Amino acid sequence: MVTATRPESKAKIGPTQLLINNEWIESASGKRFETINPTTGEVICDVAEADAEDVDKAVKAARNAFNQGDWPNLSASQRGKLLYKLADLIEANIEELARLETLDNGKPYQDSLNADLQLVIACYRYYAGWADKIQGKTIPINGPYFCYTRHEPVGVVGQIIPWNFPLLMQAWKLGPALATGNTVVMKTAEQTPLSALRVGELIIEAGFPPGVVNLLSGYGPTAGQAIARHYDIDKVAFTGSTEVGHLILEASAQTNLKRVTLELGGKSPNIVFADANLDQAIEGAHFGLFFNQGQCCCAGSRLFVEEKCYDEFVAKSVERAKQRIVGDPFDDNTTQGPQVDQTQFDKVMEYIESGQREGAKLLCGGGRVGDRGYFIEPTVFADVQDNMKIAQEEIFGPVMSIIKFKDMDEVIQRANDTMYGLAAAVWTQDISKGHLISNALRAGTVWVNCYDVFDAAAPFGGFKQSGMGRELGEYGLQQYTEIKTVTVKL
Ligand code: NAD
Repeated sequence: MVTATRPESKAKIGPTQLLINNEWIESASGKRFETINPTTGEVICDVAEADAEDVDKAVKAARNAFNQGDWPNLSASQRGKLLYKLADLIEANIEELARLETLDNGKPYQDSLNADLQLVIACYRYYAGWADKIQGKTIPINGPYFCYTRHEPVGVVGQIIPWNFPLLMQAWKLGPALATGNTVVMKTAEQTPLSALRVGELIIEAGFPPGVVNLLSGYGPTAGQAIARHYDIDKVAFTGSTEVGHLILEASAQTNLKRVTLELGGKSPNIVFADANLDQAIEGAHFGLFFNQGQCCCAGSRLFVEEKCYDEFVAKSVERAKQRIVGDPFDDNTTQGPQVDQTQFDKVMEYIESGQREGAKLLCGGGRVGDRGYFIEPTVFADVQDNMKIAQEEIFGPVMSIIKFKDMDEVIQRANDTMYGLAAAVWTQDISKGHLISNALRAGTVWVNCYDVFDAAAPFGGFKQSGMGRELGEYGLQQYTEIKTVTVKL
């Protein structure tokens, strides 16, 4: 049940304006929009609303900072030092940032603090360490020449991020972009603008020069589109829906062919064999689906379970789902907060109805919790068929769909039968089966006997319509540099 928000949950609201050139300013139009507390449905505050004119102003600041002033003159190790400083400042303000994240997004405070913020700090530190280790090659070409490559920053980078992990998505984008010397115009998600703006203050405090990081709150079709179509943005990095991913790529094609990297949706298969440690698989599948209210692009939302252990798995998974504690995200016992907004709430409820309509077996949940905020009961469907909507489309909510399978060849074929290819997992104690399946699955990440294991050093991204390019790790750096070949006559 939803309990009253406790006084110690009061998050301090940071800046609510646009950050351009290290200054906090109102939008050119003077417009502001409201951000809602998903726990109560009430307005938290309003924030400045960026549109095309503000994007243009931010791009000019970013271009200026890229071309002249302190940023291009900083050594690579000095850039690294600034990122370390930012990580330290985030760590020093970790509880405040976690509270703000929970207030605006609804995720349990314990998750904000112990999952999101830990990964955020690790990500900035990881890329801080890379700043002075990005090297070209010397190449033995024919003739009396000395040939080498330089890895130079792409330039002004537009970054558009979603609401499901606001601070973490900001870190995944800023870390590699800044380590490699780019300047940034970032648009946050309209549902969750607040925590990123507070990090903006810390960016200034860390000593990043004016114009290096510009932060805009605003909507997709206006500010987001203005970034995607801007002629002076050299690259756009986008995380969000596959549908908008298509628009971003199209905008690049129609304008200046800016480089595009995309992190999009998924419908990830999670495959459980009867020879798995069943209790671990049940716990892993539960976590892989319900974590973050099911609002993960890599959620294991097609849960394939081998016939031989199907009944036991289903029964225990239902019991496990019933143990989830849904309620005030600031209560330390809560394991599931509200969905992020009314739109997502309605969308998830429609999927639950469609599952019932199409004949999947609803074994628990399916309804709303409480009478305010966007809380949904942990929901488990069994006997889901591959052609049902809940087995094909991304639900982005606390809805588990369990699907029966008979053998390995069949499940590989069915697991790959999707336009997505973000993540997958397999549970088995047979090591060669685990490797075989990992090789056969068309997905950017495969977890074996685990789920949602993230590390700043391990690349993440999608096959097929789940994306283009990779984030994190050394691979993530490649997306933020241009290779220049220099040939010198000897
Ligand atoms: P979305 O794609 O609409 O929004 C993501 C970001 O893109 C936001 O900042 C948004 O303002 C911006 N945006 C929207 N339209 C745009 C446009 N025309 N041009 C430029 N930018 C635009 O995603 P959503 O509506 O917030 O969520 C819907 C679905 O997206 C979810 O159900 C889920 O499938 C997917 N999603 C995926 C991820 C991920 O990590 N891959 C994260 C969040 C959402």
